Amino acid sequence: MIHRKILGTPKNVTISKTPSGKYYASIVTEQDIPHAPLNGDKIGLDLGIKEFAITSKGEKFENPRYFRASLRRLKIRQRRLSRKAKGSNNRSKARLAVAKIHEKVANQRQDYQHKISLKLVSENQRISVESLNIKGMVKNRKLARQISDVAWGNFLTMLEYKGDIYGCEVHYVDRFFPSSKRCSNCGYIKQDLTLSIREWKCPECKSLWDRDVNAALNLMLFSESKIPLEEGKSTPDQLVERLGMNRVTGSGQEATGAA
Ligand SMILES: [Zn+2]
Repeated sequence: MIHRKILGTPKNVTISKTPSGKYYASIVTEQDIPHAPLNGDKIGLDLGIKEFAITSKGEKFENPRYFRASLRRLKIRQRRLSRKAKGSNNRSKARLAVAKIHEKVANQRQDYQHKISLKLVSENQRISVESLNIKGMVKNRKLARQISDVAWGNFLTMLEYKGDIYGCEVHYVDRFFPSSKRCSNCGYIKQDLTLSIREWKCPECKSLWDRDVNAALNLMLFSESKIPLEEGKSTPDQLVERLGMNRVTGSGQEATGAA
């Protein structure tokens, strides 16, 4: 079965076999693609677990429902696999079942990310995003979290190579600063902003903020050097709190995340 039309001149073919026993042929082709004119917007992009990505323009890309359903099935199957006796027939069957869902999740995620990344790079000329090293400072062994790490990495790779084609630069913000707590309009730092607060009003300039959109706006401003560097000095503890990933009994944000 051919999943995609072959565009351009074929250069080479790679055949691969997945753990569930499917074969894939990927064909590398050469094709001239005209660069998009450099007249798009400059945006900040916040990557999350509940919503996959949020832009400073207020666009939110949720993880699709079907994708969350597959992740749930994956968790159940993995639990079953862990209960099967080593070396047993049932264990190999259970392993195959896990591999199949893994594959499905990966394919669904891939398709979804292709769509979003294409949309973002064709509409914008610069995307500022927090470097994954910074997000990665927050360790968490949960499945949802691990999957998110991989997903973000793949997604940023897509943004980069599509950005090259469409004329959109991906700019990494690699300093700590309180992007959620900082009012992107006036710079006021709302110290008491907890994870459960999704919207807040700046007491200083009265701006009304969606938490994630404000964070994305700050990412954009930071990479445009419109935020003084001294603000880029949150401690790792503040960072952990800001990203909201380390809570075991927290606000439930994580529990409702990728699951
Ligand atoms: Zn303000």
